[in-house]
Amino acid sequence: MNMKLSILSFILTFPMLMNAQEQFNEMEYTPAKTTFHLNAASTSKSVKVRIYESATSAKPVKTVSLKRAGKDYWEGTASGNMMGKFYTFDTGKGECPGTFAKAVGVNGRRAAIINLDETNPEGWDKDVRPALKSSSDLVVYEMHHRDFSIHPQSGYEHKGKFLALTEPKAIYYLKTLGINAVQILPSYDYATVDESKPDKPQYNWGYDPLNYNVPEGSYSTDATKPEVRIREFKEMVNALHKAGIRVILDVVYNHCMSIEGSNFQLTYPDYYFRKTETGKGTSGSIGSKGGDYSNGSGCGNETASERPLMRQFMIESVKYWINEYHIDGFRFDLMGIHDIETMNIIRKEIDKIDPSITMYGEGWSAGTCAFPQDKLAMKAVMYKMPRIGAFGDDMRDAIRGPFSDDTKPAYLTGIKGNDESIKFGIVGGIAHPQVNMKKVNYSTSPWTAQPSQHISYVSCHDDMCLVDRLRTSFPGITTEELIRLDELAQTFVFTSQGIPFLLAGEEALRDKKGVHNSFESPDSVNQIDWTNLQRHSEVFLYYKGLIEMRKQHPAFRMADADLVRKNLTFLDTPDNVIAFTLNGKAVGDSWDTIICVMNSNKSPRRITVPDGTYTVICRDGMINTDGIDKVYGNTLTVGSQQALIVFSK
Ligand code: CA
Repeated sequence: MNMKLSILSFILTFPMLMNAQEQFNEMEYTPAKTTFHLNAASTSKSVKVRIYESATSAKPVKTVSLKRAGKDYWEGTASGNMMGKFYTFDTGKGECPGTFAKAVGVNGRRAAIINLDETNPEGWDKDVRPALKSSSDLVVYEMHHRDFSIHPQSGYEHKGKFLALTEPKAIYYLKTLGINAVQILPSYDYATVDESKPDKPQYNWGYDPLNYNVPEGSYSTDATKPEVRIREFKEMVNALHKAGIRVILDVVYNHCMSIEGSNFQLTYPDYYFRKTETGKGTSGSIGSKGGDYSNGSGCGNETASERPLMRQFMIESVKYWINEYHIDGFRFDLMGIHDIETMNIIRKEIDKIDPSITMYGEGWSAGTCAFPQDKLAMKAVMYKMPRIGAFGDDMRDAIRGPFSDDTKPAYLTGIKGNDESIKFGIVGGIAHPQVNMKKVNYSTSPWTAQPSQHISYVSCHDDMCLVDRLRTSFPGITTEELIRLDELAQTFVFTSQGIPFLLAGEEALRDKKGVHNSFESPDSVNQIDWTNLQRHSEVFLYYKGLIEMRKQHPAFRMADADLVRKNLTFLDTPDNVIAFTLNGKAVGDSWDTIICVMNSNKSPRRITVPDGTYTVICRDGMINTDGIDKVYGNTLTVGSQQALIVFSK
């Protein structure tokens, strides 16, 4: 590089780098003094820090006035040893713990001064991220802490807590099932559960962020001690890592619980939230100049990732979870509210730490955003965001029916016309010569550049779980038929080229009593009844078999669009039968040719295949990768409402 150019670029970037590092470091402790920083409007009349003896004590022991130390940046110092104390910022709008508190007291109202190093569990310095070659190698298990362990007969000691996932029972279970990543529902500090009443049954999914950079208190064994939730979260990560399981965090930067009272609004009013230009927003009349607050989240507000402070906040937050908590991936809630540029910058920043850290999100919003549509991180333009994935609702809804109508059936119930949407999911959302995009339900063109950008799934925490969906769309369904269709649905997920994703408890045939949106339903609705495992062990074994087959055979996860186009071929089939061959030999698989045939018809179907000797590994709801049977010739017969998978050497 030219020397002049190099000096110039150093001068240009240096102040920005300094800012980025320091900008959200709100509290710096030394035994002699504690320094506070806050991003607050330069026009603020005053910015104060109040220091308290405890999280709940009435009066501050000290108040420090901050001075402007840069544009929209304030600074002040409290002398003396403040270890163990609590603090709030106040810009004249009301007290809050700042936007980037790293430890908080009960219910997250005050930030805490603690020594983070002392929260590290034993062996934390040796904690290692489990190896991963490609995101397509992930098997993601989406879970809520309370759903997973709260059932009275769950057998867990730490019911509803982070620590449940450290118990040998949990680790043994997850390893036996075969998943290699958990995606935990919001586990940062959220607002709706009262942490001061740990014995009162309370439930929420947690999509109501309060403090983005602190674990949720109600999932800890003692929310009144700021260090406990931090240590227990790390213990959870450590236990999962030791078992080879990655931890993916569900992050909800797109909205806050509410505008008023949010840490963003209390520190820098009207900076972090978008407003409509017209003044005709969807969230009422709380806006001032520039229109109403926009409501792309459906929760009354939407954040403005394109603004420098919000963008930097997201970058620093993600980096903090990686560095402090060893997080392995992020699921961005309503990613379609964020702008493309921010998502790509985050990907770049994460790559500097570890490119194997996964990023994906919901490629949609829940309302109109006050931002140019073509610049939003929507599913249709995922190809503009390399190595960031999105949820594949095309295949999901074609298999089980649309999000918008729980009673409307689709492929599983024998409705014709869904095949192309399902095939589009099987190839991982890439352009494939045999997928007719004109017949795909939502997408008009391929939206991924690589199959590992496609999250393949049939259910998640949102919406009905698979059992409820089948019962609703198939009135009077028998248990046997329900199990057949349930297994058939998941066979698509685990044989598709994207990232397979499973809602926890589907393998135990969980239901949510037909509740579509169970975000605040009681435990009785949300808890997983693990006693189902004894009643329906065949379902667990089928899921386990699918996962094992996928992990053993790279043909199911080629991870490269060209390889998929070359080596995945759909066969001619009758209605509601989808069949494809995988050229295993070409991608180093021990099975030369694999044929998957799925049939949702209520009677068997015969298809023509290349003449050969085939080993059956999946049939009649059973999977055995060592082989169940041998079949010969140029036809295969698939039973009613089930999958048939065979291979030839
Ligand atoms: Ca909380």
